[in-house]
Amino acid sequence: MKPEVEIYDTTLRDGSQGEGINLSVMDKLRITERLDAFGVHFIEGGWPGSNPKDIEYFAEAKHRRLKRARLAAFGSTRRKGVSVESDDQVRLLLEAETPVVTIFGKTWLLHVREVLRATPDENLVMIADTVRFLKDHGRYVIYDAEHGFDGFKADADYALATLQAAEKAGADMVVLCDTNGGSLPSEISRITATAFKNLSARIGIHTHNDIGMGLANAIAALEAGAVQVQGTINGYGERTGNCNLISVIPTVALKMGKRCAPESSLAKLKELSQFVDEIANIRHDPRQPWVGEAAFAHKGGTHVNAVQKVVSSYEHVDPARIGNARRVLISDLAGRSNIVLKAQELGFQVSNETPELKDILAHIKKLEHEGYEFEAAEGSLALVIRKILKHENPPFTIEGYHVSIRRDRSISVCQASVKVLVDGEIEHTIAEGDGPVNALDQALRAALVKFFPQLKRIRLEDYKVRILNSASGTEARTRVLIESTDGKEQWGTVGVHDNIIEASLQALSDSLEYRLMRRSS
Ligand SMILES: [Zn+2]
Repeated sequence: MKPEVEIYDTTLRDGSQGEGINLSVMDKLRITERLDAFGVHFIEGGWPGSNPKDIEYFAEAKHRRLKRARLAAFGSTRRKGVSVESDDQVRLLLEAETPVVTIFGKTWLLHVREVLRATPDENLVMIADTVRFLKDHGRYVIYDAEHGFDGFKADADYALATLQAAEKAGADMVVLCDTNGGSLPSEISRITATAFKNLSARIGIHTHNDIGMGLANAIAALEAGAVQVQGTINGYGERTGNCNLISVIPTVALKMGKRCAPESSLAKLKELSQFVDEIANIRHDPRQPWVGEAAFAHKGGTHVNAVQKVVSSYEHVDPARIGNARRVLISDLAGRSNIVLKAQELGFQVSNETPELKDILAHIKKLEHEGYEFEAAEGSLALVIRKILKHENPPFTIEGYHVSIRRDRSISVCQASVKVLVDGEIEHTIAEGDGPVNALDQALRAALVKFFPQLKRIRLEDYKVRILNSASGTEARTRVLIESTDGKEQWGTVGVHDNIIEASLQALSDSLEYRLMRRSS
């Protein structure tokens, strides 16, 4: 069914400009895949004209088929004094070969005069030229009106003229941006309504959260006629961040009663939010609206009592609808159905009646209590489920290992030896590496490749370390998340231990074991 509000995700472009956010090409591809599976309508992958990483991302993304989302490349209108055909930045937009191109242009005369150093008319021509050129090349064109609201406040007639220039040149969507994030909902309403009255193109909204109004402003625009909302997962973005899609999606669906993301995806909202945080190596905010751990936590006294009598007495919505859970009364059933869903996704044949389910659930809860996180580590989760469900022995076991680091003048040398057992046969290998984990990886792989040559193709793409309960100092535990690929598929695995080497080895071993399991199932 057609959405009434389109979701446009810019986590990979605007979001990745946030402080502390650094996404590799592999991270970006994994997030793309997840956003597509969730059902957002547009994924803005990056700005090919701004950095080589984004060019590489688009070159990779080309080979992946998205099920629902359309991929967008982001860029700007052509430069002043250059024909659109010979503008390199515009050429790179076409070379990204995305079905959608989003370009931003200037709405605010202050920027036209002081930043672009162009005349108001020149700017209108730059907008029209670029939109028309991209349309002529068959793209779906989204025009982002940068400083749309500040532009309107300064000179409404000129601001409107820029939007009309984009519309006349064929833009499929005109998006009003509160780029500096300082507008009020009442201003957003009024200006969006004016644009709505004067344009026939569909209107979108892009807001920033500088005064904490990112979500409120997006909703105000939707109420005034906008049909697309742009934002980022968990509100990542420059300064205080962008409008948070994790808040927008349920607000649109459950409070405004409008169709946006697929209904079945809503229950995976918390999972999506945690997944992206894990990939970005950011602690999940317990107070995040809708999906935070504390969002439906009831702390003692009258609240708990009331909630136990009538759940709606202190809750604005049933937390299960967005995949969250009430904290005092964690419903066993909710946990159960989440795990069934996840296990089915991973290819296991289970239902609510599977007798092993209780053990699986209990085991996962225990591991989570120890610090494991499975949101981005589906490989490790699959192994946990298989172990309990199938009672199979793992294809290999690590009998022992040794890691040594020594320094020779300025060069440090890491060496690892690993002993594995496969089908009653022991293999013992030694390898050197750049660091202790790399040496261990090399040795483990060398030992296993003898039995499983298909492991040769696996590459480790990313290695992330998080110190858990760091408040307790010496007792801190380490969680390691590893991302691997065989060129076709990518997966994550996790290890937790007081010792970083041990945690890394768990994640490494899970990565290889998961690949072997996938092959056999
Ligand atoms: Zn922005």
